[in-house]
Amino acid sequence: MKTTNLGYPRIGTHRELKRACEKYWSGKISLEDLLETGKSIRTENWKLQQEKSIDLIPSNDFSFYDQVLDTTLMVGAVPKRYFDVKESQGNLMDLYFAMARGYQKKEMDVIAMEMTKWFDTNYHYIVPEFEKDQEFELLSTKIIDEFNEAKALGIQTKPVLLGPVTYLLLGKEKEEGFHRLDLLPKLLPVYHILLEKLVEAGATWIQMDEPVLATDLTAREEEAIAKVYQGIAEKFPSLKILLSSYFGGFGDNLDTALSLPVCALHLDLKRSPGLLGEVLESGKLGEKTSLSLGVVDGRNVWKNDFSSSLEHIRRAKTQLGEERVIISPSCSLLHVPNDLDLETNEKTLPKEVKDWMAFAKQKLEELQSLKTLSETPEHISHPLFKDNLASTEKRKNAALIHKPEVKKRVEHLSESDFRRTSPFEKRKVLQETHLKLPLFPTTTIGSFPQTPAVRQARSLFKKGNLNEQKYIDFLKKETEKAIHFQEEIGLDVPVHGEFERNDMVEYFGEQLEGFAFTQNGWVQSYGSRCVKPPIIFGDVSRPEPMTVFWTSFAQSLTEKPVKGMLTGPVTILQWSFVRDDQPRSSTCNQIALAILDEVVDLEKAGIAIIQVDEPAIREGLPLRKKDWETYLNWAIGAFKLSTSGVEDSTQIHTHMCYSEFNDIIKDIADMDADVITIECSRSQMELLDAFSEFDYPNDIGPGVYDIHSPRVPSSEEILGLLKKAEKVLPASKLWVNPDCGLKTRGWEETKEALKIMVSAAQQMRDMV
Ligand code: GLN
Ligand code: ZN
Repeated sequence: MKTTNLGYPRIGTHRELKRACEKYWSGKISLEDLLETGKSIRTENWKLQQEKSIDLIPSNDFSFYDQVLDTTLMVGAVPKRYFDVKESQGNLMDLYFAMARGYQKKEMDVIAMEMTKWFDTNYHYIVPEFEKDQEFELLSTKIIDEFNEAKALGIQTKPVLLGPVTYLLLGKEKEEGFHRLDLLPKLLPVYHILLEKLVEAGATWIQMDEPVLATDLTAREEEAIAKVYQGIAEKFPSLKILLSSYFGGFGDNLDTALSLPVCALHLDLKRSPGLLGEVLESGKLGEKTSLSLGVVDGRNVWKNDFSSSLEHIRRAKTQLGEERVIISPSCSLLHVPNDLDLETNEKTLPKEVKDWMAFAKQKLEELQSLKTLSETPEHISHPLFKDNLASTEKRKNAALIHKPEVKKRVEHLSESDFRRTSPFEKRKVLQETHLKLPLFPTTTIGSFPQTPAVRQARSLFKKGNLNEQKYIDFLKKETEKAIHFQEEIGLDVPVHGEFERNDMVEYFGEQLEGFAFTQNGWVQSYGSRCVKPPIIFGDVSRPEPMTVFWTSFAQSLTEKPVKGMLTGPVTILQWSFVRDDQPRSSTCNQIALAILDEVVDLEKAGIAIIQVDEPAIREGLPLRKKDWETYLNWAIGAFKLSTSGVEDSTQIHTHMCYSEFNDIIKDIADMDADVITIECSRSQMELLDAFSEFDYPNDIGPGVYDIHSPRVPSSEEILGLLKKAEKVLPASKLWVNPDCGLKTRGWEETKEALKIMVSAAQQMRDMV
């Protein structure tokens, strides 16, 4: 039996890649220095995997920015707007970064390629762009170079390639009149050349990733996959292809997957534990095909449950024979942090919780242990097994995790906990009398600039170099300034500014029970950007109010209704590592109740408008459409649970960014927020069409300017957008606000832009 790994985190143990890339971009280090950093990360990763006796170690899983962009460069699918950059640069790296980040130098000014989420993860890839007459060529030999690099270190690797069908399907047609799959016959020759070169270099195993097999595919798409791998088998009969799909089972694509003439087929047994049975019972697995059993969770931070993994392994071994079984993580380890050994702060990550966890390095060790155990006849008495069992047993019954009162509260929820007392029309009237807001009320999404001074104060306070009173005084001054400014420009619904918050999830997680935090648990989000998700390990509850102090303080400074600002349960769930010992929906309801407690306390403190942000609702959608309904039921339910316990006269807002609403508009309406603010300006209000076509019943604040750049919008632009909005929705429903929070902006442009926004709203009122 062999072990393999599908990919290792590439940011470096201490985010060396991030630092090197950012220094290179700002001209502080040379290209050689950057390349050297990449090389040393790869070397370290390969050696670690060798040390942990991984039989098939991946190469080309490293990337300076993104593996999809690497593929784009590899096959020479460089969009035309970068041709000048390509000409003028002596190296491919600058072209590569230009595609990732845009390019502004000398007379050249080219925008970046689009970025979107990698399946249902929080990792973002660069979306390939295709034209009708798209040509491909072998442009970058990175994959061969890295294979040779490892070979020079004495390590025979298994190069990882993004499969051609997934690659095309992840991209976008940039003009009409063709489907990107039409390009397959032109793309395949490049893959063939590459495979030939890899064989020449001595590669025996190649991992080809076709994760689209975990999604709904058309017959044409399934056929395309079948054809590609038949072609490869014919041309390269001795090459061993490990075909991997992950993040789900094969569903309707099972027959296609099983028909592929590949040497090994990877199964994600974490997401789809029943898949092994499906495959074995189908009787359709090729006689010589091996199975790679993805038993170690590549998407989460929990220790493996050896007895359940060993059951899978035993079953596969019995049916297929030892030589046809490989064990592996469920997907690339890109989605988990590097090394749990670096976590030493017991205050934020209790020892007991740490004992239940495994990061990438520990997951390699788990594979090693599972291999040993599966080869041990009496594995039950093996210390490796006993230790694992002891730890999983402790977790099952830990007092730290299980809070009977929290569980009871969720169990006793009734249907009425999930809806407001009266329907929207009635609430609207009550809120109008209560709040007395003008037509086209103006507001913001919550955060005001997190200036270097704000960040510095927080960091000093966290390190113990600024005492609490001084820190609070500082935050009070910032909040005061923000409120005064909002009053001065005549904004109708001010906010406190969120100066006390580091991050919209972490801030709440830190105050909730059931959450732990790491010091170094970084995961790549995109390019050089990494995130450090909180860890939800136990039943969630809210011991004390979390935001009442700052919201009330802000309210005490103004007569206008200050909008309270909370993060919603689905977003908190979605942006954390979530416990795997109960359904996500249960955890989400627990978080919802904690947020509800906060909502109720804000209301008690006299806050009449409360916003519960849910930017992550859409990204939580399952990969297969058939699973959408179940997800939306509990996700929308959790939002409603968190916001329904208030008086009719209290106005609930929600906010979502970067979302397309067309296919979920009914569910967005079901959320029944009195007001929803959305990101809209970059789509020129097009996103509003979904709302008007659906006859969306409640009020809407379509973002009237983009907050991602310091550019100040003109009054004509904002008026133009508002008039556009008024064409599709009645004026009585419209709010006026920016696209999203202003934390990444400076004060100067923020002030100017908001003044213009407020006067545009006034002009709209004057026209009525
Ligand atoms: N209230 C948050 C802010 O303004 C919302 C952020 C978001 O939507 N991502 O920063
Ligand atoms: Zn937003």
